[in-house]
Amino acid sequence: MQITVVGAGVVGLTAAVTLLQAGHDVHVIAAATGDATTSAVAGAIWLPFQAGPPEAVKRWAVRSRIWLEALAASAPAAGVDVIDVVVIDDGAPPWWADVVGPLARVAAPVIGAPLAWRFRAPRIDPRLHLPWLESRLQRPIERARIDRLADVPGDAIVNATGLGARSLTGDAALEARFGQVLVTEPGELELGVSLNDDRDAGAMFYTIPRHGRPGAPAEVVIGGCSLPRPDDDPLTTDPDLRARMERQAAALGLRPGAVVRERAGLRPYRPTVRVERDGADPRLIHDYGHGGNGYTLARGCAEDVVALLR
Ligand SMILES: Cc1cc2nc3c(=O)[nH]c(=O)nc-3n(C[C@H](O)[C@H](O)[C@H](O)COP(=O)(O)OP(=O)(O)OC[C@H]3O[C@@H](n4cnc5c(N)ncnc54)[C@H](O)[C@@H]3O)c2cc1C
Repeated sequence: MQITVVGAGVVGLTAAVTLLQAGHDVHVIAAATGDATTSAVAGAIWLPFQAGPPEAVKRWAVRSRIWLEALAASAPAAGVDVIDVVVIDDGAPPWWADVVGPLARVAAPVIGAPLAWRFRAPRIDPRLHLPWLESRLQRPIERARIDRLADVPGDAIVNATGLGARSLTGDAALEARFGQVLVTEPGELELGVSLNDDRDAGAMFYTIPRHGRPGAPAEVVIGGCSLPRPDDDPLTTDPDLRARMERQAAALGLRPGAVVRERAGLRPYRPTVRVERDGADPRLIHDYGHGGNGYTLARGCAEDVVALLR
């Protein structure tokens, strides 16, 4: 089947690669690629975060985890490895606890946070992963902005446009959630541990280290926030948010190195991730609304896209 995937963030590229593996002829069209996508702003760690519906999210997360772990074991150029994740919280097991594998209650390795959940999870370096996915395609991505999905050629069209799906489909349930990160030199932070402090929902804090590779130096992504914003937000970073993250790092006794850059992105949030055939246009399959979970769910959703095309 000739399939056009619209969108070249982690969701579109993973769908394209998965469709190719299933034997389809795949063409990707995108207005922006690589560093210009939201996907490039992510840390990124495999970790379910504010997404629904819960049972589907857990299934997608498990499928994606299996794929990412296989890449970690077999394809170093894909920029995936498996590290320790520590989630500090107030005690109840997280809603996704049954899909993370062995989960231990441990003393958190930071000041003033006695207990945390510890498990192993894939870490993805978007600097390497997005180009690696692109390198698996049969032909170059076509750079174009689509105004009407019905005009896109192909036996089937996969709508993986992230936040762009709002204007393409009129989906009012899709909204932008602003995220801001500091990218620092590693300083004294451990490169094999991602730390998440979930105790204050209004002031989320996390560190996602990235190992150094040729062309991609070691660094640590420090976040964050998830705040409703207009779709056309200019994506300027907020100095007050940066100061809050720096205070949180210091309060936990963390000593990152110098800040090398700040970045902001708009997560394509929807209360339920949309993976389904369009009700009005049978050529069209939607795959968008992954919020803070693009890397965590992309492969599982892509496998559902393949199944919807059977
Ligand atoms: C600060 C931050 C931290 C994050 N951390 C994590 C994490 O640790 N783990 C995790 O799993 N997720 C994380 N995320 C979420 C993750 O980045 C997103 O879920 C993911 O990037 C969404 O991918 P996407 O491909 O749907 O969208 P995007 O990356 O936005 O890609 C959309 C694509 O569609 C194209 N497009 C849009 N409209 C059109 C159009 N009209 N015509 C043609 N092309 C169009 C765009 O050009 C682009 O190519 C984080 C996000 C942020 C902002």
